[in-house]
Amino acid sequence: MKNTKELRTWLDDLKLDHPLVVAGPCSAETEDQVLKIAHELKDSDVNYFRAGIWKPRTRPGNFEGVGALGLKWLQKVKAETGMKTATEVANAAHVKLALEHDIDLLWIGARSTVSPFIVQEIADALEGTDKIVLVKNPVNPDLALWLGGIERLYSANIKNLGVIHRGFSTYEKTRYRNNPEWQIAIELQNRFPDLPLICDPSHITGKRDMIFEVSQTALDLNFDGLMIETHYDPDNAWSDAAQQVTPSTLIEIMDDLKIRKETDTEADYRNALNTSRTQIDVIDHQLIEMLGKRMKVADQIGRLKKDKNVAVLQSRRWNEILGKMILEGEENSLSEEFILRVFKAIHQESINHQEKVING
Ligand code: PEP
Ligand code: MN
Repeated sequence: MKNTKELRTWLDDLKLDHPLVVAGPCSAETEDQVLKIAHELKDSDVNYFRAGIWKPRTRPGNFEGVGALGLKWLQKVKAETGMKTATEVANAAHVKLALEHDIDLLWIGARSTVSPFIVQEIADALEGTDKIVLVKNPVNPDLALWLGGIERLYSANIKNLGVIHRGFSTYEKTRYRNNPEWQIAIELQNRFPDLPLICDPSHITGKRDMIFEVSQTALDLNFDGLMIETHYDPDNAWSDAAQQVTPSTLIEIMDDLKIRKETDTEADYRNALNTSRTQIDVIDHQLIEMLGKRMKVADQIGRLKKDKNVAVLQSRRWNEILGKMILEGEENSLSEEFILRVFKAIHQESINHQEKVING
């Protein structure tokens, strides 16, 4: 992509004094449900009303969406409330129908971004459109796949592009439904600073109680907007019940979020500082998690040594590790003195862990 500046235009044209907000139910269920939610959101800061019409479900047998019929309901939303509309498309037929029904914003879901064939098919079907197209990150934490999706759309001459960060699936259970792995979104932002970046805290958290905190982190990381699933009766939603909020909760969340506007040089400075500090917090959190994992492996080694009655301290192995880390440190602009201090501390903690295992 040569001139990424043009990627920002559609968002700048909206001239918003708050982050972009896309809200509405996970799934369109009935005409009444869609219209009721839309009317409750009509006078809020919501810019685009979302509803899933075709639902990609991980396992068969769940509600798979109402299909093309729901597009008529979205048209009614626009006619009755003036809100622009948004839905997910996952193949060329969906694109054709969505364009025929004048949907304003289309997004590519996480399960589609993983497939270059699907993304290419959608890009070809959208060729030259001036609709806004947002690419969700792929389900798995793979930046290249996400970038590939953006590049395919950009090459199809779709200029009003953006991305949605909805977290990444993990095999191990975490406190999130989809782990945010903020560093991947930060990396994408560093590569394409002008590509509008939206956070989807609903699919990241999977729990309505955590939506506020994740939204605030996203805004602190300079995200341009939020996509939040909203339903008048979340507990009885036909999909993603645990993560949807009511329209009034959404409005409260929007009111309570600290939104940093870039108005003067002092504010610019504080904004930049705040973004960097949040990035540091994300990295520190990862460091602690990695160190915790390393000590668990040390415990495992302790158990093996205990079985074989082998001494905890193995100097040759330790010197090998240090040598390797000093070289890797150099490649990452870290001084030898620093590496020695850090690894001595890590090594001491590993020994303590192993001794605890061996001596009980
Ligand atoms: C959705 O937005 O309802 C959805 C299915 O999201 P994702 O593709 O992020 O799972
Ligand atoms: Mn959903």
